[in-house]
Amino acid sequence: MQNYKVAIVGAGPAGYFAAQALQNLQTDDLQFSIDMIERLPTPWGLVRSGVAPDHPKIKTVAKVFEKIATAGNFRLFGNVELGTDVSIEQLNEMYDAVVIATGSAVGKKLGIPGEDLPGSISAAHFVPWYNAHPDFADFKIDLNCTTAVVIGAGNVAMDVARMLALEPSELDPTDTADHAIAALKESSIREVVISARRGPEHAAFTSPELRELPKLEHTNVLMAKSDIEAAISRVGDEIEKDTKSNLDAMLLISEKEATNHDRTMKFQFLATPVEFKGAGKVEEVIFQKTGSDETFSIKCGLVITAIGYEAASIPGIPYERGKVVNNEGRVSENLYVVGWAKRGPSGVIGTNKSDAADVMKLLVEDLKGVKNGGDIADILPASKVISQSHWEAINAAEVAAGEPLGKPRVKAVTREELLSLGGI
Ligand code: NAP
Repeated sequence: MQNYKVAIVGAGPAGYFAAQALQNLQTDDLQFSIDMIERLPTPWGLVRSGVAPDHPKIKTVAKVFEKIATAGNFRLFGNVELGTDVSIEQLNEMYDAVVIATGSAVGKKLGIPGEDLPGSISAAHFVPWYNAHPDFADFKIDLNCTTAVVIGAGNVAMDVARMLALEPSELDPTDTADHAIAALKESSIREVVISARRGPEHAAFTSPELRELPKLEHTNVLMAKSDIEAAISRVGDEIEKDTKSNLDAMLLISEKEATNHDRTMKFQFLATPVEFKGAGKVEEVIFQKTGSDETFSIKCGLVITAIGYEAASIPGIPYERGKVVNNEGRVSENLYVVGWAKRGPSGVIGTNKSDAADVMKLLVEDLKGVKNGGDIADILPASKVISQSHWEAINAAEVAAGEPLGKPRVKAVTREELLSLGGI
């Protein structure tokens, strides 16, 4: 019987699904000892710090992650950063294979004038802020304006716009960070414009997300019927299933009887942002009507760009165009990559399951003799590491704090709080 040691770096969906795939590939003769290394004191990646808190069903996949973590032959090393606490060279010495599953955490930039003005922020900061990510505990966002513009036509733009345009008391029964609920309750924002540079037929929203918008109880959702009809006529009869489903959902939104709530979420299409302007902070966004020279502007005090992500680079790993350089998940000898760090920021959480399973098959094909490297537990101070049982203590404390408030959990925000809940 061969027992191979595999390190998975990153405790998000791609990392857990890689661990699950290895567990499923085990036989009487082939066993794996899996160590998951995560820079935060908490695992679950985007399921904890990305998924919108008003979408609790999506987060139920965390139960699958916990099953994987407690299936045996699995250790969590939370609060341990690759490149700082341990190097890739050390992992290569200690493990038979190393799997990078660190996602894409850096927001892409538009590269237009005024993008760095105060009041212009990336979804890559706003989303972890409202989800209580420790790195954004001190992030400041000024919501003292009536109009916000969200650039991008994907599900992240939609999450961001919904979070800004919801009646904030709707977030009370969710696990939104307390600091974000408090700030959103003080927010003066009443109009959120989601802006797409192309037409509705090219929007990257998915139809379940579009179909839930008309159900918002305290927000007017506006789409111009003429925009959707023009898109339908542009695409004609030979239309892809997903595009048709999206356009059907958008048509329903555009035909919905007008409501008269305080808060409005409005979609605009075929508008390319060319400049953010303002004296010392964002005061307006200048758009060009896509495909023409005509420009127009929207006065606003906040712009959030949600135009995709890139992977942050880790020393010792090759990157190109925001991804780890790889061939079907193979990076170099004994080094693999899965998830967004491998293929870029696309797909839903479940997409990572088949993606990771494919890469783990290659990993198993490539395995040679078992190495006799050391144990990572011997090089990390025990007082630092959040193990699975420490994490279970954090998890239980957060869930218990939520119970009397009718919330799934109250998230601890700072690293200090998290470590102390974990008992270290
Ligand atoms: P995305 O789906 O790729 O959407 C990015 C959007 O940004 C596109 O509309 C794109 O327009 C636009 N864009 C890119 N560069 C731009 C530029 N320079 N100027 C203006 N617009 C620009 O990415 P995402 O929203 O970050 O989502 C990432 C992945 O996570 C997606 O697969 C998404 O479905 C998934 N996700 C799923 C959920 C859910 O299931 N509820 C929630 C959140 C995220 P073009 O098409 O014109 O390039």
